[in-house]
Amino acid sequence: MNSEPLSFLNYGGTCVVPIVDGAPALAVNNLTFTYRGASAPALNHVSLNIQPREKVALVGPNGAGKSTLIKLIAGMEKAPAGTVNIYGNPAGACHHRVAYVPQRGSVDWRFPVTVRQVVMMGRYVHLGWLRRPGKIDHDAVDRAIDQMNLLEVANQPIGALSGGQQQRVMLARTLAHDADLVLMDEPLNSLDMPTQELMFDVLEHVAEQGKTVIVSTHDLGILPLHFTRAVFLDKKIVADGPVNEVLTARTLLRAYGVHLHAHEGIWDEGEHA
Ligand code: ADP
Ligand code: MG
Repeated sequence: MNSEPLSFLNYGGTCVVPIVDGAPALAVNNLTFTYRGASAPALNHVSLNIQPREKVALVGPNGAGKSTLIKLIAGMEKAPAGTVNIYGNPAGACHHRVAYVPQRGSVDWRFPVTVRQVVMMGRYVHLGWLRRPGKIDHDAVDRAIDQMNLLEVANQPIGALSGGQQQRVMLARTLAHDADLVLMDEPLNSLDMPTQELMFDVLEHVAEQGKTVIVSTHDLGILPLHFTRAVFLDKKIVADGPVNEVLTARTLLRAYGVHLHAHEGIWDEGEHA
């Protein structure tokens, strides 16, 4: 299994790159990215502008490049061609501004830390080197743990939790981080309904605070209720616009050759248009 250390947000410091006035929350320009040894690019000439307060679903089948794009936005991978700017600054320039919830399978849950310690990782970006968390950090962590109904397990190792609880820990860490751009990679996978509802409440809350949310998913059924915009990716952008405009049978058929069963939120192989 591919695993990323849970400590990837563990870099302290003061934010020194202010938001550029009037800049989009995210500006991706002509991004092309090929993994080492791969014969074809995972992303091909991707351009995308997202304004503050948008709630964007990044949609596409397995292998479409969703995780790759999210990692490039989070500054965890670097593309040799194209640019990614976040509130006017290059990706990776300011970790205060971007929170990233990785795909569940890419986290090493055996990492020996407690729930509270993981949520505190969301605060590390706000701390200078060697500075210990202060009251403001502990308060933010307590609030996030409470909001995610994790009080009872706050001092347990994350490995001892259920899948739904672990996902709530990642959400709590994101809340504690207090970032302007929130990236979530397939957060709905294997979540029970109450946890899904809780997650969408959190997204709503985050957007109401003027922040920007990008969530990757292959569940089309959730789009109309929870997102303002859908970006369909299949190595390149195949459709992009308000959910009600993009989510038409014609677009889906043209983009993927799939039929949508909206109520079940699943898609079938269909005839190519
Ligand atoms: P998605 O998240 O939409 O399922 P990914 O971004 O994970 O898609 O993958 C896009 C393409 O890049 C796929 O063909 C996948 O096999 C390939 N890929 C993903 N991660 C790596 C990697 N670390 N090394 C090589 N190829 C990769
Ligand atoms: Mg993925």
